[in-house]
Amino acid sequence: MKDYKQDTLCVQAGWHPATGESRIPSICQSTTFFYGDSQAMADCFDLKSDGYFYSRLANPTVAAFEGKVAALDGAVAAVGCASGMSATTLAALTIAGSGDNILCSQAVYGGTFNLFGTTLPKLGIECRFFDPDDSAEHIQSLIDDKTKFIIAETIANPSMVVLDFDKLSSIAKKNGLVFIVDNTLATPVLCRPKDLGANVIIYSTSKYMDGHAAALGGMIVDAGTFNFKGNPRYPAFNVPDESYHGLVYADLDVPFATKCRAQLIRDVGAIMAPMNAYISFIGCDTLALRMERHSENARKVAAYLAAHPKVEWVKHPSLEDNKYHALAEKYLPKGQGGMLSFGIRGGIDECRKFMESLQLITQETHVADVRSCVLHPASTTHRQLSEHELEMAGVPANLVRLSVGIENADDIIADIAGALERV
Ligand SMILES: *Cc1c(COP(=O)(O)O)cnc(C)c1O
Repeated sequence: MKDYKQDTLCVQAGWHPATGESRIPSICQSTTFFYGDSQAMADCFDLKSDGYFYSRLANPTVAAFEGKVAALDGAVAAVGCASGMSATTLAALTIAGSGDNILCSQAVYGGTFNLFGTTLPKLGIECRFFDPDDSAEHIQSLIDDKTKFIIAETIANPSMVVLDFDKLSSIAKKNGLVFIVDNTLATPVLCRPKDLGANVIIYSTSKYMDGHAAALGGMIVDAGTFNFKGNPRYPAFNVPDESYHGLVYADLDVPFATKCRAQLIRDVGAIMAPMNAYISFIGCDTLALRMERHSENARKVAAYLAAHPKVEWVKHPSLEDNKYHALAEKYLPKGQGGMLSFGIRGGIDECRKFMESLQLITQETHVADVRSCVLHPASTTHRQLSEHELEMAGVPANLVRLSVGIENADDIIADIAGALERV
C-alpha cells in the first residue's frame, strides 16, 4: 500500500479480506484463540510465527487499525493502546527506566505534562522540560548520557505551538537519541513526522482519528528509522531480555514496537479494546476529508475572530501574524487542523456570558471531533489556579479553547457572532 496517497490509505489500508471474508474488519470480541497443536502455540509465544493467542497481546480487529495507522505514517509497525495517555506511558517505558531522564517540550497536553512532571519521576525517571522556542544550544545542554528521548507535539494542545521539526530532529540525531512526536492534532493526513525525523509517533486516537467522540484509544507507531544496535544509550535493547527467552530486541527487524508489545503491553496490559479499534478504524476512513474541512473551517473562524472588536487575540497557525505561521507553512501546508484559542476582551465573566450564549457550539472537555465545541479552561480544567498562575501556565483567564467541527462554517460563525453580541 506504500505508494498510495494519504486519502486513499485512509479508506483502503489495514484490512484486506480473503474471498468470502467480511469487507470491513469484524469485531473479534474474544479474549483467546484456539490452537489444536501445542507446538504452533509455542512458536507464537516465541515470536517465531505470527498468530493470535491472547487479546492482551494482539487481536485481529486491533491489528487492522494498527495496520491502517502504520500505513498512514509510512511506518513498520503500530501498537494499539487503551488511550492516548497509555500510549504515551508505554512508549516512554519502552525506552526509559529508573535513573534515566527524558526531554519534553513544556507546550504539551496537560495529561502528558502531569505524566512526565509528576508520575514518571515517582518511578525514578526525571523529566527535563524545555520551552519549544529555546535555542538548539540550550536544549542540547539538557542532554546527558542518561537521556533516553526527546518528545514534543506537532501542534501542541492547547497552546497551538507548531513543532520546529528540523531543530529537534537534528538535536536527536546528533546525540543518537530517539525522537518521539505526539501527532494527535495534526494526524498523518496533515503531517507525516517520519518524513521529518521522528522515530516514534504517538496518537490519542480518541481525537481526530476516531473523529466522532465515540471511542477512547491510543497508538504507538514505530517508524523503523532508529538504529538501536550497539547504541550505548540503549543497553536494554542490546542485552538479552531474560523475561522473553533471551531475546535481543536490537537484533529484530522491528525493535521498538516488538519490545513495546512483548514487554510493556504484556506486563501493563493497557491494550486497545476490539470494539474501540473497530469504531476508530471506520472513523479513520473519512479522516482525510474531515481534516480538510476542519482546517478550512478553522481558518475561516480564526479570520473572523481576528477582525472582531470584542476579541483581544486569536491563536491559529493559519493567521499570517501568528508566531508559528512560518513553521506551519513549512510542516503543515495542507492545513492546520480545527483547534484554536482566543481571548475575549474582559475576563472570566465575559467568557462565561459568551459560552452560555452559544446555541450550536457546546461546552465539552473533549476536542477534535466532528462537532464544534468550546471550553473555558480558567473555570474548568484549570480552575484551581490563581489568575497569576493562569498567566504562567499560558492560560489567561480570558482564554476560550474552540475545537472547530465540520458543520457549515457560516453556521459556526453565526453562532459565535450571536454569542459575542451578548458579551
Ligand atoms: C487528548 C490528548 C492526549 C491524551 O489522550 P487520551 O486518549 O485522552 O488519553 C494526548 N496527547 C494529546 C495531544 C491529546 O490531545
